[in-house]
Amino acid sequence: MTETVTNWAGNITYAAKELHRPSSLDALRALVADSVKVRVLGSGHSFNEIAEPGTDGTLVSIAGLPPVLDVDTGARTVRVSGGVRYAELARAVHARGLALPNMASLPHISVAGSVATGTHGSGVGNGPLGAAVREVELVLADGSTVTIGRGEKRFGGAVTSLGALGVVTALTLDLEPAYEVEQRVFTELPLDGMDLASFEAVMSAAYSVSLFTDWREPGFRQVWVKRRTDQPFGDFPWAAPATEKLHPVPGMPAVNCTEQFGVPGPWHERLPHFRAEFTPSSGAELQSEYLLPREHAVDALYAIDGIRETVAGVLQTCEVRTVAADEQWLSPSYGRDTVALHFTWIEDTAAVLPVVRRLEEALDGFGPRPHWGKVFTTPGAVLRDRYPRLDDFRALAGALDPEAEFANAFVRDVLTD
Ligand SMILES: Cc1cc2nc3c(=O)[nH]c(=O)nc-3n(C[C@H](O)[C@H](O)[C@H](O)COP(=O)(O)OP(=O)(O)OC[C@H]3O[C@@H](n4cnc5c(N)ncnc54)[C@H](O)[C@@H]3O)c2cc1C
Repeated sequence: MTETVTNWAGNITYAAKELHRPSSLDALRALVADSVKVRVLGSGHSFNEIAEPGTDGTLVSIAGLPPVLDVDTGARTVRVSGGVRYAELARAVHARGLALPNMASLPHISVAGSVATGTHGSGVGNGPLGAAVREVELVLADGSTVTIGRGEKRFGGAVTSLGALGVVTALTLDLEPAYEVEQRVFTELPLDGMDLASFEAVMSAAYSVSLFTDWREPGFRQVWVKRRTDQPFGDFPWAAPATEKLHPVPGMPAVNCTEQFGVPGPWHERLPHFRAEFTPSSGAELQSEYLLPREHAVDALYAIDGIRETVAGVLQTCEVRTVAADEQWLSPSYGRDTVALHFTWIEDTAAVLPVVRRLEEALDGFGPRPHWGKVFTTPGAVLRDRYPRLDDFRALAGALDPEAEFANAFVRDVLTD
């Protein structure tokens, strides 16, 4: 069977002419054991060739495996299939009175694919989504299975693995008691005069805070403030409350977005910006994101302001978030409290790439780590310098996947000197 397989954005058409969809674990193990090169496609929300298996490779979806969604209310954990999307996971967990600590801007993405790339939401105290993972179950290149748990030394490479170790069939995540969140949007926060202390105050004002700008003018058009109702909250004196519901991409309908104006609701219906039942973001777009030490946040924002017109020319919206340091060796927030500078571009690769390069030059001095699932041009040699535990990851990949069956061109570029 020949089919055309693309990513969500449609900017990548995979060389593989078939997406294999095994319906049992045994069928998956046999497929992997019989293949020379394998990559798994999650929900396909990455914007680059990270999932590309190459012309001789096997592209696999595990969405057809019998779904696992076992909530253990006593232990406050959930064991979930890698192919399950966060929307489904969140509903199941919430129904049992429990919650995840954080979510990305959209709930449409698969669990294994998200944590493989270091996907994150916002919040000075919130690590990336992978920080909740306590155990990973993998099918390895020879078809055997292995479980790697927190507490093992090799766990540091097992979660944010770029899909380079094996097929992640299931993960066990930590949960906490369910909580409510209320979301308010504020408008027109100036950049002029902002220093690190005021940036920190704004970003620490609530459980999760995001700034949005189109860089057409200096400063931020919107601030999204997500407050847990079980935590204290003071005023937000830095910007004026919005007078209507807003979408972070100017001109897009706010109906696609989660409830605003401080209406309390379940955590999973407020922490993402976009509702599960609608297209997230603009739908016609490319994305890039750079994660750098939070101490450089304001200098980096002024650096972008210096090339504001170049950036604005191909930009739909830019989001500024924070991520707490985590311990996954290949996580873009590994070992450093982070500011994440995200760009939703227009859907025009030729026009966007020169701006991405210009942006990378402007941010270079701050040691940015690009989001693994988004568009970037940073060479592998530069990336390698930005990951102090890369050798540990290489050793783990060599031990679990000695024939490099799961290493595609994207992964080789990162791992190979
Ligand atoms: C509209 C939109 C909004 C986004 N918002 C955010 C955001 O708020 N925060 C953020 O950090 N990112 C965001 N992203 C990026 C997105 O979260 C990442 O690209 C993420 O990896 C998507 O998960 P996926 O399942 O679609 O992964 P895919 O793109 O399908 O795959 C990503 C990687 O994971 C691997 N993989 C997938 N499943 C498995 C498996 N079972 N076993 C082994 N490897 C596997 C793939 O091989 C590939 O290497 C957004 C993307 C879009 C399109």
